[in-house]
Amino acid sequence: MSVTIPSAETPCPCTSGRAFSACCGPFLTKSSEAPDPVSLMRSRYAAFACSEPEYLVRTLHSTHEGLEAGEKVLEQRIAIACRKYKYRGLWILDSAPPDAEGTAEVLFFAKVYESGKDKSFVERSKFKHDGTGWRYVDGLLAEKKDLTVDPKALKLDTFAQMVA
Ligand SMILES: [Zn+2]
Repeated sequence: MSVTIPSAETPCPCTSGRAFSACCGPFLTKSSEAPDPVSLMRSRYAAFACSEPEYLVRTLHSTHEGLEAGEKVLEQRIAIACRKYKYRGLWILDSAPPDAEGTAEVLFFAKVYESGKDKSFVERSKFKHDGTGWRYVDGLLAEKKDLTVDPKALKLDTFAQMVA
């Protein structure tokens, strides 16, 4: 599954502008765990962009409902999503540190296309640390086409008002 893993000096697929080896590379190649929810978010976007379903399943929190189908089935589903979309950019818009239950939030805008059609979206993702690393719990998503404001101008509080 690692055929598309970029080489060390390639710009990171999370579009940070940094080299892959100095950004999400160490997380995708399992040499270290993402140190915080924003880093994990970036690395998961990079994993979608370079088709790494195994990493995407490994970084799910055990409570993620997709896991009910079993890891292998989920990996196949994610692999289809990886191929279906073109990942053109990631903007981290806002984040909130862990609350009393340990849940941290990240709001991001992902620029994605499906067969040339703009399928970009804003998502508020929830993350929890499981003792090994930060893991993706779930997310609330709003497609760009359904938003009446500039998606990149949203923050956690304004996003919450929009989707309420
Ligand atoms: Zn990166």
